Amino acid sequence: NAKDLGKNQISFFSNELNEKVEHYFELKNHLDLAIKHGEFRLYFQPKVDLLANKICAAEALIRWIKADGTLVAPDNFIPVAEDTKQIIPIGQWVIETAIQQLKDWQDTEFKDLSLSINVSAIQLYDESFLPHLKSNLASSGINPAQLEIEITETAVITDTETAVKILYELKKLDVMLSLDDFGTGYSSLSYLRLLPVDILKIDRSFIASAKEGNVSNKILASIIALARDLAIDVVAEGVEDETHLNLLLAHQCQLGQGYYFSRPLPLAQFSELALDLSLH
Ligand code: C2E
Ligand code: MG
Ligand code: MG
Ligand code: MG
Repeated sequence: NAKDLGKNQISFFSNELNEKVEHYFELKNHLDLAIKHGEFRLYFQPKVDLLANKICAAEALIRWIKADGTLVAPDNFIPVAEDTKQIIPIGQWVIETAIQQLKDWQDTEFKDLSLSINVSAIQLYDESFLPHLKSNLASSGINPAQLEIEITETAVITDTETAVKILYELKKLDVMLSLDDFGTGYSSLSYLRLLPVDILKIDRSFIASAKEGNVSNKILASIIALARDLAIDVVAEGVEDETHLNLLLAHQCQLGQGYYFSRPLPLAQFSELALDLSLH
């Protein structure tokens, strides 16, 4: 009867909830150990100059390599790390490692390569963010204009006024600012007006659904044209095949990123690819 059904439903939900809570705390504890034992790595995905067919930049994407060799993708731990604030030490590690990498590249064969890192809202709003970045840039001696900070619109939404202030402070460090997953938020266009954006990364959903003459393709063309008018660089995300590439070339989109060129790679493999592609 109804009463039994209700009971069952309650216990069903609380079991599911219990499992979620257990998983959450287990992950939180594992992340503490991962931070302590240095189990994070940066993978690198090239950004390609579509016209010159050359790698001109890379995006650093975090991976968690567990002791047993299992690779954990960021979507499986970044949301919890944000919730627990563990993203602060993890994000600091990303900044330090990326700056060290840029320094290595600038001292050796990839002098002109830029490197981008992804920064979550929690990191951006944390008071340690700007001073930490500033002191690491200063002591590294790298050209700060070769470091790009990628933020998403959702990072700006919670408190736009504060975000605008922080981003202008960030620009004083002479780093590049990139708006990631552009077009997926609710007020993408007003952010272009409010924020000191240097680079716009068009979300891959636009490229995925674009076809000759359809609405996605027209939006894609308009974003590219608008960015050109505003003197903002455009990167198309999610270039997966030659059809995508040809669509972008038709719109005179200069930069692209996607599996068609390369997946994110560990450092050694990325270097090999970058050496190859800079020879052409
Ligand atoms: P994102 O910054 O938008 O990065 C692009 C994601 O799309 C990456 O997933 C990349 O591997 C994937 N991707 C690249 N090309 C293609 C393609 O052609 N097709 C498809 N289907 N996917 C493609 P990944 O590495 O799993 O990262 C997911 C998200 O995790 C990132 O999205 C970023 O928001 C976040 N993330 C990654 N690294 C960090 C980090 O160091 N710190 C923070 N706070 N977030 C990070
Ligand atoms: Mg990104
Ligand atoms: Mg993106
Ligand atoms: Mg994303």
